[in-house]
Amino acid sequence: MKVLTPLQETIDVCDRAPGYVRAIAPYQPGKPISELAREMGLPEGSIVKLASNENPRGASPKAIAAMHLAIGEAGRYPDGNGFALKEALAKRYGLSASRIVLGNGSNDVLEMAARAFLAPGTSAVYSEHAFAVYPLATQATGATGIVVPARDHGHDLDGMAKAIRGDTRVVFVANPNNPTGTWLPPQAIREFLEKIPADVLVVLDEAYNEYLDADLRSDAASWSGEFPNLVVSRTFSKAYGLAGLRVGYGFAHAQVADLMNRVRQPFNVSDIAQTAAAAALFDDEFVEQSYLLNKRGMQTLTDGFLRLGLSWIPSHANFVCVKVGKGAEVFNRLLKHGIIVRPIASYGLPEYLRVTIGTESENERFLAALAIVLK
Ligand code: PMP
Repeated sequence: MKVLTPLQETIDVCDRAPGYVRAIAPYQPGKPISELAREMGLPEGSIVKLASNENPRGASPKAIAAMHLAIGEAGRYPDGNGFALKEALAKRYGLSASRIVLGNGSNDVLEMAARAFLAPGTSAVYSEHAFAVYPLATQATGATGIVVPARDHGHDLDGMAKAIRGDTRVVFVANPNNPTGTWLPPQAIREFLEKIPADVLVVLDEAYNEYLDADLRSDAASWSGEFPNLVVSRTFSKAYGLAGLRVGYGFAHAQVADLMNRVRQPFNVSDIAQTAAAAALFDDEFVEQSYLLNKRGMQTLTDGFLRLGLSWIPSHANFVCVKVGKGAEVFNRLLKHGIIVRPIASYGLPEYLRVTIGTESENERFLAALAIVLK
């Protein structure tokens, strides 16, 4: 009998996992406040986290009130079909509830699209520097990822259309993109959609749509009627301030939505999350204030970068990438000042840090610390 150490034991069983699963590089989330507080012996309240593109205003009061009401139902499973939230979204966007898919965050919507359409022997196209979940979701299905070189740090839509092969089933487009904040006008996306073969699914990820100026926001929700191969994903995690609840949604052709629902966990969105999201959806004032705070904060940060002689990638989202030289080193030095931002070497941008726009005081604290650590 072979005597195994605990580690070897694990390795033996792990060897049975498909090679494409073992090859996945895990998602690297922003460092939690509690972790840095433990490591540095700092009070949590003194730490500024600008690392996960969260809304610095927190959740909307209307959503919080709705959550309190929903607590009493916590002993029951949620409505697996999300009737009330889908109805609310259908009303808001003027489309049928059968064209809406709910996700445990929009991350879940992206993964459902991958699981429904990708398999070993197929491929997905996405851009260099695009959101990390596209390669992750692709690899988890055993499909091949085709990475198209970025243009000015953003998506090269012509290059992406040309990269589509006979075995390509999905193209992921983030607009605006994370981590670069780059954005393409809706007209450019529409022209792209017209070029894509009808049997290739385009997943248009609009997680940051609400941070765009009103005249730049896309009307892509209504496009899924025109383009049956389009899924538009959106989220309550950003401008609606509900990142911790995990609610996202997708608009798609009813048949595409049906396929995605087949690979969905039956109760993927909790009742508290559904109730809060339905309340937040109509809190226009909260979203508007979040947009305005973000716009002012973006100006504060970029003015600060200018004063420090730093360049940045112009961003249309609630974060901005600033060029600091050795990103990982500056990240670590900022941690010592109680500031958490995001190094993005894993996105092929080792000279940059991605900084989420915070409250006015958080932005000022970050800029002051950045000036010190760069000296
Ligand atoms: N898409 C993009 C481009 C993102 O940046 C994020 C969050 N980092 C998501 C989707 C997923 O967010 P969530 O699951 O919270 O909706």
